Amino acid sequence: MSFTATVLTLYPEMFPGPLGVSLAGRAHAAGTWSMNAVQIRDFATDKHRTVDDTPAGGGAGMVLKPDVLARAIDHARGLSPDAPVLAMTPRGRPISQARIRELAAGPGVTIVCGRFEGFDERIFDGREVEEVSVGDIVLSGGEPAALMVLDACIRLLPGVMGAAWSGVEESFESGLLEYPHYTRPVTWEGRTIPEVLRSGDHAKIAAWRKQRAEDDTRLRRPDLWDRHGDGRVRSASGARQED
Ligand code: SAH
Repeated sequence: MSFTATVLTLYPEMFPGPLGVSLAGRAHAAGTWSMNAVQIRDFATDKHRTVDDTPAGGGAGMVLKPDVLARAIDHARGLSPDAPVLAMTPRGRPISQARIRELAAGPGVTIVCGRFEGFDERIFDGREVEEVSVGDIVLSGGEPAALMVLDACIRLLPGVMGAAWSGVEESFESGLLEYPHYTRPVTWEGRTIPEVLRSGDHAKIAAWRKQRAEDDTRLRRPDLWDRHGDGRVRSASGARQED
């Protein structure tokens, strides 16, 4: 059964967009995943097809109406009953590779894209919706965030990536950044590939890579490193050990 991506958006013409080319595009053509881009405006009921209104309490911008959103979400549930519903918002839980793996292993995902100032908060009470952020940045709409989440899921679907193992060693999969890569020429503008990578000694290469992954994570992403360290000193029950 193929992975179903349903996106609720005011700009359905943005999909599949970049997911229509390269790896994801070939997988789409092969039927590994399918795409429903649903126009939120189709669920407005007035003659002007209104989807937004001014913020309660005043202030700039417009807010997406909960009644219209709810009808769009209910329609999406009909299309893809078992897919979790994610709403893209900077107020959400930051997406992680672990969550992407869970989503990719499931039947698909339904993604609600915000615009303007975002969603009427009551939608998160009224419907089962997971609030997801793609990082501490502010986009003009949820569509690029949805493309990002879908891209990350699609590359993990069976058969999409050429080499099956290339998904395993990557950044975040072990809680670390990946080690750095090099390719020919051996010398470029006076800079050479680290000697060890040319040694043919696989044990030494593996040790070098492990060391670089750890060093780079510690220096570049102390937040990841702290969590990684926590993982190592936690017992299977999740309780912290004394030593
Ligand atoms: N007023 C909001 C930002 C609205 S940006 C706030 O300050 O929190 C408009 C829309 O872009 C949002 O509704 C959301 O769907 C999308 N968006 C912006 N930044 C995002 C991010 N970091 N992650 C996920 N979606 C984001």
